Amino acid sequence: MSTNIQDSPKAQVAEYGKYGKKFEKALETVLAGGVKEAFFLPSRRKIHSVVGTLGDEFIDPDKPYCSCSHFYFKVRSGRDELCYHLLSYKIAMKTGRVETTKFSDEDYGPYFRALASDIFDVLDKSSGS
Ligand SMILES: [Zn+2]
Repeated sequence: MSTNIQDSPKAQVAEYGKYGKKFEKALETVLAGGVKEAFFLPSRRKIHSVVGTLGDEFIDPDKPYCSCSHFYFKVRSGRDELCYHLLSYKIAMKTGRVETTKFSDEDYGPYFRALASDIFDVLDKSSGS
């Protein structure tokens, strides 16, 4: 039995290999099911988040935007192209590994509040206080 390397997730997203360490970290995140999409019905609104090393980060891949401090300090200022959360999303999209969960619109508020509270926890941790 031989494994066809072309079918492995890593081979599918080889184009992102240029990101080096960030790519490895993003791939690990994706394989662990860390890229999440909350899909609200009937409005079809979506909230994307990525489970990072410190906790959940909110991402908006269309803008693009990420709530992590790397994005805030490095990407917004133009010193880096993207953070590994946004890269995780790209990889997950490409390999069909976005973990989608359906919710009803009534859950939108509570879901967003819970995510926001996670984000503040992460900010606390990353500011080192
Ligand atoms: Zn990020």
